[in-house]
Amino acid sequence: MTPEEMRHEQRAGPRALVFGCLFGIVFWAVVLFGVLIVSTKADHKACSHPVLSVPRTVTIRSDVPNPQAWRNAIATWNAQGSGMRFVEVDSAASMADVYIISSARYSNGSTWVRMPCGRTDSVVYAGTDVDLDYWAAHELGHTVGLADHITHGTDPSRYINPKYCPEGYSGVMSYCTPRWQWWGPDDRYMLWWWF
Ligand SMILES: [Zn+2]
Repeated sequence: MTPEEMRHEQRAGPRALVFGCLFGIVFWAVVLFGVLIVSTKADHKACSHPVLSVPRTVTIRSDVPNPQAWRNAIATWNAQGSGMRFVEVDSAASMADVYIISSARYSNGSTWVRMPCGRTDSVVYAGTDVDLDYWAAHELGHTVGLADHITHGTDPSRYINPKYCPEGYSGVMSYCTPRWQWWGPDDRYMLWWWF
């Protein structure tokens, strides 16, 4: 063994240690970063529930104001090409996944959704307090367990398990995103992740 070869031999041990440590640091940094991104991006559900059958059957009761808003919302969801789809069934159907009923009799005309925490069916109380031509697709999102995204400082008691907009989500479940920006990359990721 030449002296040169000997020096090489002597360095091999510490060098392996240094590279091993560097690899470990980089590896765990990548894992931690990945987990942070995925947990932030995937945090859209308001609650857990059993696996939902697809397509979701929807009844629109005959006394619901503006039934066309719901038909448009169903078409919009189905046009996204995700694994989550809705289909309208007869309004007199006794069995459906989603019941859209008029809130006039039950909730004084205010619109809200009873979400399927622990269940697979869901009731939408359709009111006249919000523009459902704008919001119906958002409300359908609640029927599959998606949460509201609201601005910091908004009273969260009116929302079921609200998330906050500044976390970086722009889309249909956000009160901070204009409608023309719905169904963009964040929604595609959300739909891909959950459905
Ligand atoms: Zn909402």
